[in-house]
Amino acid sequence: MPRDYYEILGVDRAADADTIKKAYRKMAMQFHPDKNPGDKTAEDRFKEAAEAYDVLSSPQKKAQYDRFGHVGGPGQGFGGQGFQDIGDIFDAFGDVFGDFFGGGMGGGRRRRSGPQRGADLRYVLEVELKDVLTGLKKEIEFDADAGCQTCDGSGAKPGSHPKTCSTCGGSGQVIRQQGFFQMATTCNTCQGQGSIIEDKCDTCHGRGLVQKKRKLLVNVPPGVDTGTQLRLTGEGEGGRKGGPAGDLYVEIRVKAHDEFERQGQHLIAALEISYLQALLGAEFSRPTLDGEETIKIPAGTETGELIRISSAGLPSLRQPRRGDLVYEVFVKFPKKLAKKEEKLLREIADLKGESVNTKGSGLFGF
Ligand SMILES: [Zn+2]
Ligand SMILES: [Zn+2]
Repeated sequence: MPRDYYEILGVDRAADADTIKKAYRKMAMQFHPDKNPGDKTAEDRFKEAAEAYDVLSSPQKKAQYDRFGHVGGPGQGFGGQGFQDIGDIFDAFGDVFGDFFGGGMGGGRRRRSGPQRGADLRYVLEVELKDVLTGLKKEIEFDADAGCQTCDGSGAKPGSHPKTCSTCGGSGQVIRQQGFFQMATTCNTCQGQGSIIEDKCDTCHGRGLVQKKRKLLVNVPPGVDTGTQLRLTGEGEGGRKGGPAGDLYVEIRVKAHDEFERQGQHLIAALEISYLQALLGAEFSRPTLDGEETIKIPAGTETGELIRISSAGLPSLRQPRRGDLVYEVFVKFPKKLAKKEEKLLREIADLKGESVNTKGSGLFGF
């Protein structure tokens, strides 16, 4: 005669859903196979508790059980599922273990023996500022794991099969007690794989992956910025056991430019002009990122004024229209005047009736 489900979990018949859940967690922790390696009784208790919880956590099954009790023994009729595999228990009640471990572990408790997607890879690509303007096609080279062709990524010698890990029951993780905390850590026996390969593939030595040199042409669109990530689907690490490959993320870093500083789509540059150009105005050309522009300095320009050349900046990823090139003006005064230059300036000061230092005692130190 199978044991009473309430008795298995140690709760009375009036217990609410929360109490039942807590009781099951406690049982599951106590008889967890990781904590009782090789103990058949503990494993049976662990399965028994899962079966009881399977029934008592479902309002429908619970109502029937309350009315009729066991019918036909465990694993039959509307009774418990009769779990054969511990991995199935984690699959069924992952959420119970999940929040027990402080969240986020629910998925991690799943069995690992199925196909696994390859890891995503990151490649940092440095580009010049002018590449932001035009876009760039660049060949990159890197080493990445690819699925082993000999064993189809299983890691097992062709004709043989990996075995479910008995330490973790295929979950790939074991639970450890640290003070008051339960910690889930990677199973040492199977290195988190959930399975053990006894007959390893000769090509990949059981990894299911082999490292390969890869070459890829990356198409960098105009308008990228430092931090832009280009995703190349399926170009990451190869999958295992028939799983899909991961993605490759190409992360852009735009190198600093000697002259232009980027502010979004605008380019900022310092523009030094002489005091005469500032006073009288001037017109000259300066190289930009992709050519030359004529800069017009109006007479009477002061330090700090901005001269804007529209559409000489950068495009963005969203729109091809370019930002502006903005020059910030710095008026440069000579530390020393030529004799004739000083003479003429004194004449101007005289003309305007302005009081200036006499020769030899002035700012210019002669
Ligand atoms: Zn294991
Ligand atoms: Zn292989």
